[in-house]
Amino acid sequence: MIVPKSLLALAPVIAGVAAQSKQVISPELSRNQIYDRIMNHMPPTQSHWDQWGSGWIFEDCANFAKERGQNPADYEVFNVHYTDCSEPWIMCRHKAAKVDQIRMIDYFGRLPVRVRQHVKHFIVSYDIGPAAGLYWGGNIALDDDSFDMYVLMHEASHALDFSALRQWGSPFSETSQWKNEWAKDSRIPTGYAGTNWVENFGEIGPIGLFDRYVPGGIGQIQPNWNQIFHQYATYQGYLGDTINYGGTCGSRMGNSQPVSMYARSAKVSAAAFGELPDVSLGSNITVIEPVNAKVVCDKTHLH
Ligand SMILES: [Zn+2]
Repeated sequence: MIVPKSLLALAPVIAGVAAQSKQVISPELSRNQIYDRIMNHMPPTQSHWDQWGSGWIFEDCANFAKERGQNPADYEVFNVHYTDCSEPWIMCRHKAAKVDQIRMIDYFGRLPVRVRQHVKHFIVSYDIGPAAGLYWGGNIALDDDSFDMYVLMHEASHALDFSALRQWGSPFSETSQWKNEWAKDSRIPTGYAGTNWVENFGEIGPIGLFDRYVPGGIGQIQPNWNQIFHQYATYQGYLGDTINYGGTCGSRMGNSQPVSMYARSAKVSAAAFGELPDVSLGSNITVIEPVNAKVVCDKTHLH
């Protein structure tokens, strides 16, 4: 089931009840306790990349820019060819963002390929309002001030929640499978995990991944891990191989289309445009339907 935006908007109200009925685990872990250690256990993936021809931007990035009052022509657009996928990921970056292309490529490539394949495009910008990160329609955007592995894992967990477990429901975090396991725990991982079911899943993600990748598991930094065990074990159990390293991309979301960077009123000569970028996916790739959902992850609470 794909949840329409109107239903998603109601989620915070519903989940507010859930949030109040459980306390936050003590000690509450901070973002850097997770990302400092996990970086050494999330290997980067080899890649090469190329820039899009001048004048072109993909439609989702152009819309993202316009919604923020930014000029699409201030974005750079590039294809990232990781060695574990025959098709590149198309990314865009605002030229004024503090995070450069190399860091974007490095961090995104540290996600296992079967996690990456549930992400359509990856965007980095500056000052994206009150959000540390956004998830919408399969895309992930990060604010440059909030760019770290924790926030990326959090947003990737939204992608997995909506896209990777569709056989049980989308988002998975609103199914009875999730809620029943949540009910067995006495605590939630962070205050932000109490916002709604979707953020509950988004916040357990980095803990589930830490436990999976770092030798010794989450118990090394969270002595009371058993109070949230069912949440992170369910995250790991249902996602299974999806969150393991290795393999190749069997499926991908279809890319958004290339459009002109310039406003329709701007008279730009055809000579200003490079070659039309090819965004098609090879026949060996199964195309995953995009997800009609939007999640805004608050900067002040995601700490
Ligand atoms: Zn979130």
